[in-house]
Amino acid sequence: MQLLFRDDAYARSCAAKVTAVDERGIRLDATVFYPMGGGQPGDIGVLRLADGRSVPVIDTVKGIAPEEVIHVVAPGTPLPEVGTEVTAEIDWQRRRRLMRMHSCLHLLCAVVPGEVTGGQVGDGKGRLDFNLPEAKLDKDHIEKELNRLISENHSVRPRWISDAELEARPELVRTMSVKPPVGQGQVRLLEIEGIDLQPCGGTHVAHTREIGPVEVVKIESKGRQNRRVNLALREP
Ligand SMILES: [Zn+2]
Repeated sequence: MQLLFRDDAYARSCAAKVTAVDERGIRLDATVFYPMGGGQPGDIGVLRLADGRSVPVIDTVKGIAPEEVIHVVAPGTPLPEVGTEVTAEIDWQRRRRLMRMHSCLHLLCAVVPGEVTGGQVGDGKGRLDFNLPEAKLDKDHIEKELNRLISENHSVRPRWISDAELEARPELVRTMSVKPPVGQGQVRLLEIEGIDLQPCGGTHVAHTREIGPVEVVKIESKGRQNRRVNLALREP
């Protein structure tokens, strides 16, 4: 299966062929649909058939095999047969909001010190938890720094390194709760030039200005160690 979102997060649709269908959903030979993982929700969208029918995709998840992507459909939906040619098309407006927030969470990693213990990208909002026992986080300062980095328009791009290189640079791993997927020889890093570099398989904007203005909604204490920083996009 060709995972087109990896190299081109801006790809909204692609031609594909149905390779398998079962109770979990539909597999294709190529897809632009991102499967839930790394704190980013799976894409929703539609598979368009040549005869005019369309199959709504209500979620996208990973299969058991590496690189297996399952397009989940609502129960009762008539399913296409194996071999059917489709056009796979994501809900781009939603995905773009997810890309903007996901990219912003990388900036948050650069602004707030401490290990990341969890996080979630949502539609128009997002959060990260930091392991910061003593720190008092300044909401206004964080918001100002984020918006400064956004307006500086840093470029954002994926980069691949070998498992061995990653092992030699453990400081690259900021997130304790999500271990990078080693064992396939190569690990995908996400680099925001001069700001942040860490393993990430998600989808991101190409330049930070595309994130648009953001706000720090609130900072919560989650237990003795954890500080949760909640963000929202200011523009829909
Ligand atoms: Zn990322």
